[in-house]
Amino acid sequence: MNRVKLRFLSRADNVGLARISVAALAGQGSFSLPDIEEIKVAVSEAVSNAIIHGYRGQDDGWVEVDMELDQTGLAIVVEDWGVGIEDVEKAREPGYSNDPERMGLGFVFMESFMHGLEVVSTLGEGTRVRMRRLVTLSGELSRDAQ
Ligand code: ATP
Ligand code: MG
Repeated sequence: MNRVKLRFLSRADNVGLARISVAALAGQGSFSLPDIEEIKVAVSEAVSNAIIHGYRGQDDGWVEVDMELDQTGLAIVVEDWGVGIEDVEKAREPGYSNDPERMGLGFVFMESFMHGLEVVSTLGEGTRVRMRRLVTLSGELSRDAQ
């Protein structure tokens, strides 16, 4: 078992820091390289959302990434104390974005690469995204394993 907590400012260049850190921790577990690539994408999407949407691009907010590894897999919580999401169900719909320039696919990636995505958000207080990646024998994402 291992646990790592990162707390960093909402600067775009810290997305890379979160990616490298989660890859290093996942590398201690039984994940394949393609698994780790997918985990990195999911974490990038959650952290980018915290920075871009949670703090509206301002670089003085805190983002926290809490990662816990055990034999069953990796549990990750990405949290911000930014603006929050008014309607989480709508925000999670594929293609939904509050910005017409964006694809609205961040949550779709998180959902398809991870198990059991949970989003808890309160307007004016912030957002917490929890997701897990289970170790499976084949290395494939198994929907049954949720
Ligand atoms: P893409 O990720 O494809 O660049 P996107 O960020 O708009 O586009 P999602 O990541 O799926 O798409 O997020 C959907 C919407 O949910 C966002 O447009 C935003 O309105 C809202 N949202 C997501 N994360 C947060 C957050 N941490 N704080 C506030 N709003 C958020
Ligand atoms: Mg996004």
